[in-house]
Amino acid sequence: MKNNIVILGAGESGTGAAILAQEKGYEVFVSDMGQIKPMYRALLDQHHIPWEEGQHTEEKILAATEVIKSPGIPNDSPLILRLMEKHIPVISEIEFAARYTHAKMICITGSNGKTTTTSLIYDMLCRAGLNVGLAGNIGNSLALQVAQQDRDYYVIELSSFQLDNMYNFRANIAILLNITPDHLDRYDFEFQNYVNAKFRITQNQTPEEAFIYWSEDPVIDREIQRIRPKATLYPFGSKKQNAAYTDGENMIVAAPDAAEPFSIRLSDLSLKGLHNQQNSMAASLTAQILHIKNETIRESLMQFAGVPHRLQYVATIKDVRYINDSKATNVNSCWYALESMTRPTVLILGGKDKGNDYSEIDDLVLEKCHTLVFMGLHNEKLQEHFGALKAARKPELRLISTNNLSDAVAACYNAAKPGDNVLLSPCCASFDLFHNYEERGDLFMQAVRQL
Ligand code: ADP
Repeated sequence: MKNNIVILGAGESGTGAAILAQEKGYEVFVSDMGQIKPMYRALLDQHHIPWEEGQHTEEKILAATEVIKSPGIPNDSPLILRLMEKHIPVISEIEFAARYTHAKMICITGSNGKTTTTSLIYDMLCRAGLNVGLAGNIGNSLALQVAQQDRDYYVIELSSFQLDNMYNFRANIAILLNITPDHLDRYDFEFQNYVNAKFRITQNQTPEEAFIYWSEDPVIDREIQRIRPKATLYPFGSKKQNAAYTDGENMIVAAPDAAEPFSIRLSDLSLKGLHNQQNSMAASLTAQILHIKNETIRESLMQFAGVPHRLQYVATIKDVRYINDSKATNVNSCWYALESMTRPTVLILGGKDKGNDYSEIDDLVLEKCHTLVFMGLHNEKLQEHFGALKAARKPELRLISTNNLSDAVAACYNAAKPGDNVLLSPCCASFDLFHNYEERGDLFMQAVRQL
């Protein structure tokens, strides 16, 4: 009897995993509780892979020898608990795909900055002429690429949910950018569970492999002391003892085994802001470890265009710069966005609150913002928090409440003065008014361009 693989969730990763599993000779069945997108349904049909949607037929699923689970399905959902009870292994698509490739794996995780850093590293490796694929949360699934066009290198963005179901996978270069509370609803509201998930990126690494991390993150620092990863460590930060560091004017990248240290003026970096200095250090260290030439690293750092919806410049209207940071779905990423503002700022906040503590941005709001525009179905918590801040520390701070995008953009237009920024960096998920953060950002840019 053939080994029997069941795939739960038929999105990008599930469909890719199904195609790879079939190619490797498994009996495959795909089950999705929701509606499968037509594009993925067509792909499955094209490969004659059986699937179901709108239900999970337990008897078929519990007959699996192994289950590949979409990262969107929580590990404590009843079906997954049933699989655990029956000792049926549940793995992630990345874990599965990695069994069938010899490519070098460069894996990026962190609470914020994953997509930016992943894209920057990919840019560097492409410019260096390497045969490289982009995978994980961005681009095509790793499994599909391994099935159809295997590469020598993969740059993989990993969320904690993907890491949760990775066991034997080994990252050749692992990058951990930062850890701040996020997605706690999936981790029994225990921060340490989330920290443990993030640190799975170092599991199975040996001294042959590299672990690049931000040394000034107190959580990462504490955890490194505790678990002592076996990989060779490449810390980055603002002190000279790091493998990469910034000194206020320059970024210096000097991995101990690098042929030649590399340095670039911070003002020459195409990605602006403190957080992007961290992302740039992580990416440059990766490139240096892979022996990419300094001139290629420099070219990429100076020319990389950035990723949409992350501090994306939209337009300047009447000397007001509009910036789309719709991807800032938590308070920490908004902190970094505000930190990078060099002009007085009108800030748009709001959406679906994930249990946010806004006090983290109080000081920056006081320093940089003259107006806050709330955009959401429920602005009460924002009103309450920033109302108190205004009363206590900045009576002239203007608070404007709106519940749709066009009113919010109009309010910004009226409030902003020449020389200001208008920044959409909402701290919240987008699901109250939009399908996702991309739609929120796209509609914001459209509305701005129509002003
Ligand atoms: P992720 O993929 O982890 O969500 P992104 O690169 O998409 O990260 O950036 C998400 C948000 O976080 C953006 O609003 C960006 O301004 C902010 N950000 C980017 N890099 C960092 C970082 N290193 N530390 C904190 N915030 C960051």
